[in-house]
Amino acid sequence: MDVSELQSPTAFLKRMLGGLPIPTVLSDYEQWWVAEGMEISNQVDRAGTPWLRMFDALGKRVDEILYPPAYWRALRQGYKAGLVWRAFEGGRLADCYLLGYITAFFDAGMYCPYTVSLSTAVPLEKYGDPTVKERFIPLLLRKDDRVWQGATWMTEAGGGSDLGTYVETRAYPTPQGWRLTGEKYFASNVGAELAVVAARRVEAPLTVKGLSLFLVPRHRADGSLNYTIRRLKDKIGTRSVPTGEVEFQDSEAYLLGRAEQGIYLILETLNLSRVANSIGSVALMQRALATAADFATKRVAFGKPIYEQPLLRRQFEEWFTLLKQAFCLAWEAVQMLEEVWKELPPYPPRYHLFRLVAHLAKYFTAELAVQTAKWTMEVYGGIGVLAEFGVERWLREAMILPIWEGTPHRQILDGLEAMERKRAHERLFDHLAPFAEPQAYEEIISQVDAMLSLPQEEKEAQSERVFHRLASFAAESLCRKHTFLRGEQSNSPPTGTAKNLIYQNLKIFPVKWR
Ligand SMILES: Cc1cc2nc3c(=O)[nH]c(=O)nc-3n(C[C@H](O)[C@H](O)[C@H](O)COP(=O)(O)OP(=O)(O)OC[C@H]3O[C@@H](n4cnc5c(N)ncnc54)[C@H](O)[C@@H]3O)c2cc1C
Repeated sequence: MDVSELQSPTAFLKRMLGGLPIPTVLSDYEQWWVAEGMEISNQVDRAGTPWLRMFDALGKRVDEILYPPAYWRALRQGYKAGLVWRAFEGGRLADCYLLGYITAFFDAGMYCPYTVSLSTAVPLEKYGDPTVKERFIPLLLRKDDRVWQGATWMTEAGGGSDLGTYVETRAYPTPQGWRLTGEKYFASNVGAELAVVAARRVEAPLTVKGLSLFLVPRHRADGSLNYTIRRLKDKIGTRSVPTGEVEFQDSEAYLLGRAEQGIYLILETLNLSRVANSIGSVALMQRALATAADFATKRVAFGKPIYEQPLLRRQFEEWFTLLKQAFCLAWEAVQMLEEVWKELPPYPPRYHLFRLVAHLAKYFTAELAVQTAKWTMEVYGGIGVLAEFGVERWLREAMILPIWEGTPHRQILDGLEAMERKRAHERLFDHLAPFAEPQAYEEIISQVDAMLSLPQEEKEAQSERVFHRLASFAAESLCRKHTFLRGEQSNSPPTGTAKNLIYQNLKIFPVKWR
């Protein structure tokens, strides 16, 4: 890989995709980050992290999140560029994720507000009552400084993996509309004007079936605070996004979709964010490797730059391969999401294929981001742990990527469910067949089949090993597909199915972009 391509997220995206939509928007956005955003991002990470002002000068509760003014400039840059509105005007989610890639290359934490704003706008657009949509959607899609932000709050103190048991926030209808009472323990982008919130209807079962999804504005109709913020979390990474604890007390809320279908809406919301997490993880990998390569070409040991030492050189090549594979898997999740994001329950089979790919991508890319960031520190040697060199930040930022939007265990077990109940792996194998290495293809099919035929306890216990192999196999096969689509050398001949794939791909990437 040409190391110079690593230094620019736009150049890497172009290299991987063979062409870009909105190329000027992407390169202008990157240029802004280089000229101004990087400095702001560093200042926020070191010293300017948002803080909570609970009371005004006269002692009135205001729960205001305060940011350095430069932070707002940075944040609004992304909203203007279209990290949310582009999904609706022109209807292409992929453009939002491309802009998200550039954001996360420079500041993984700052990708969070855009992600959760998109994950608020999409369920609102799909499931909101027409009057609620009319009132709030235009505010989330504004292109000026008055743009509203969103947030997605599900997790409570008891635990985030088992929402069916631990969501205790209560939802009850009143003549004036729905009201919520309860607490959310991890509430990122707290202070946002709108949030989508999981709550349990009174007398609903104590399982996921009792959960519904609500839109909760920051302020009540009379202008007073609709919920209070108890405190902000002191975090090791993603310090550019405030994460707080929130308390609802008879808070005004709008039901999204049908009350008993809430769990589907919650999972749709999470899936949008899981795809963003995958894209953000790859961007962070690229940033870490770019930093490592830059350092290694300058640092000299035993008479030459360490980049030219055979052992380190080989490691770099292996990381570059993994970076490309991780990108191809994450991008497949984006493309599949693009096809299915407007689907409603009960979902068609291709939605379940998307779900499986999203779980594989989230699982695979997040862990790789952590490992890449750790390895980058090693390349720097001792100075890698010194804050003033900046690389320790990539590890701090990366550590959260496997956890939020569902831990690796959750991705594996939900992926397992998509395979067992929806046979999503069979569609995945068909999808990858034209580009898979034949022996690896046969092996992974028999490994997945063998795992699925185990008794329940044993199956769960064995699932990580096989899930990891499946993710790696999918990433590798998809890399071959991308190589082939770019017209570069590929081991796979253009079979009939491969030609179909090219056709499908061109529908998503019209010729004019190439
Ligand atoms: C900085 C930050 C910001 C966040 N922002 C938000 C937000 O905005 N909105 C939101 O809703 N949440 C948010 N979260 C919460 C996050 O989604 C949860 O932390 C995550 O889903 C895990 O839940 P938990 O921490 O309660 O761990 P638990 O669910 O208690 O899990 C603990 C451990 O047990 C494992 N585990 C659980 N069940 C199983 C099983 N069946 N098999 C094997 N292992 C299992 C888990 O994988 C994990 O390793 C945020 C978290 C952080 C750290």
